[in-house]
Amino acid sequence: MSRKTLTAINPANEKVVGEHDMLDEAGIAAKLDKTRHGYAELRQLPVSERARRLHAVADLIDERQADIAEVICHEMGKLFRGVIDETKISSAIVRFYADNAEEFMKSQPKEVPGAQKAEVIREPMGAVLGVMPWNYPLYQVVRFAAPNLAGGNACLLKHASNVPGSAKLITQLFHDAGFEEGAFTWLPVSASQIDDIIRDPIVCGVTLTGSEPAGRAVAKTAGDEIKPSVLELGGIDPLIVLDDADIDKAVELAIAGRFDNTGQSCAASKRLIVVEPLAERFTERLIDQVQKMRIGDPMDASNDIGPMSRKDLRDDLHDQVKRAVKAGAQLETGGEILDKPGAWYAPTVLTNVAPGNPAFDEELFGPVASVVVAEGTEHAIELANHSDYGLGGTVVGQDVKRAEQVARRLNVGMSFVNQPTTPYAQLPFGGVKNSGYGREQSEYGFGEFLNVRTVFVA
Ligand code: NAP
Repeated sequence: MSRKTLTAINPANEKVVGEHDMLDEAGIAAKLDKTRHGYAELRQLPVSERARRLHAVADLIDERQADIAEVICHEMGKLFRGVIDETKISSAIVRFYADNAEEFMKSQPKEVPGAQKAEVIREPMGAVLGVMPWNYPLYQVVRFAAPNLAGGNACLLKHASNVPGSAKLITQLFHDAGFEEGAFTWLPVSASQIDDIIRDPIVCGVTLTGSEPAGRAVAKTAGDEIKPSVLELGGIDPLIVLDDADIDKAVELAIAGRFDNTGQSCAASKRLIVVEPLAERFTERLIDQVQKMRIGDPMDASNDIGPMSRKDLRDDLHDQVKRAVKAGAQLETGGEILDKPGAWYAPTVLTNVAPGNPAFDEELFGPVASVVVAEGTEHAIELANHSDYGLGGTVVGQDVKRAEQVARRLNVGMSFVNQPTTPYAQLPFGGVKNSGYGREQSEYGFGEFLNVRTVFVA
């Protein structure tokens, strides 16, 4: 049988930056056997020891920041400084669970009539399979791994096929911090091998961050096995600019919310909904700022935007932009593939976007800002909620109380005022509707795959 490999290609220049062997059926079986032992060992460790190892993971992330940034930058094209930011939120999340593990695992005594003793305890259930995307290769992994390892569940990582070097380096971090293979294991496999892994008895649940079709596929198998799942899927998040917003501030937030990570974020501000009186000035300033963005080598700190992560995804995006224009959107700037090797796409602004247009209805996962004009605040809220997705949403305005009231009326998992959606270790992350279910981060992300056991003594 021919050897199967995962190949990492630098999207900035199309050079191969790594090749890694994939597991066949026997290889997967051997890893799952190790996981059975690893889980048995991990679950009986004192919580304080698991927390100590997580502290070591966080410290190693900080120490190895530059090495991590280089690998991620070369594999998926993120700006080097963007990966440094990613390492910071990642170590913060790991530290949060290390600091709080003992508190979250504490048994809770309950006063119950007729009971000599009644308490609720949390306990691990097995190994959690994390199916992860390439857009934040470290952050996505730690936000499922840290709470599960803290709680005593082993972790199996199926990372995106284009970031094998990142997967290997992240796995090494966990091993160097004391979580042995079996407690944290990378499975270099394809999406088509996931079904059988979910069905293995050691796997107690699956968490997927990625697209809607991938989420549906994984949740279907988990449901068939009666195993829990968490889905962190796509979004077409609104950023509403209210009539009292400061235009410069609103444009600054819109650019940060839309173009960070070359527009490849689930919770990016994909629909910029601006109320009528400000629409013209906001749009002019936005186009001007987007045209000034420096696009180039992601290792060069003077650039604002790098390549997209893969050429096929860049081509899909270009197709969506062309369909949006055909359906009536106006192309103000960009809208073209840059003529050089790699997955380069010009930062783009579309106006005249409304429901029914692909730029309103579909997730555009790249550097494309879509401007939607609303007649007033109520219309803006109506437009914002007119979506099959509901991940996050931002409201910009100088009257903060009013902006908060508007933000609370968005049908989403995360409402932000005067700031694009941002992850914090202490706050839950996740969506509603087709953006998925379940939560990561915070205490809500801790219990997703733990057994909540009732103990009652009459
Ligand atoms: P993707 O194609 O769905 O890939 C994500 C992961 O799922 C990869 O490991 C992929 O493996 C695997 N996968 C793909 N198809 C599968 C299937 N049919 N069955 C099982 N696994 C499958 O998504 P992506 O392009 O990497 O990421 C972009 C999407 O993720 C966007 O929609 C974005 O909004 C969403 N996202 C959501 C969040 C959130 O927190 N809500 C965060 C980041 C990204 P292969 O790489 O081997 O195909």
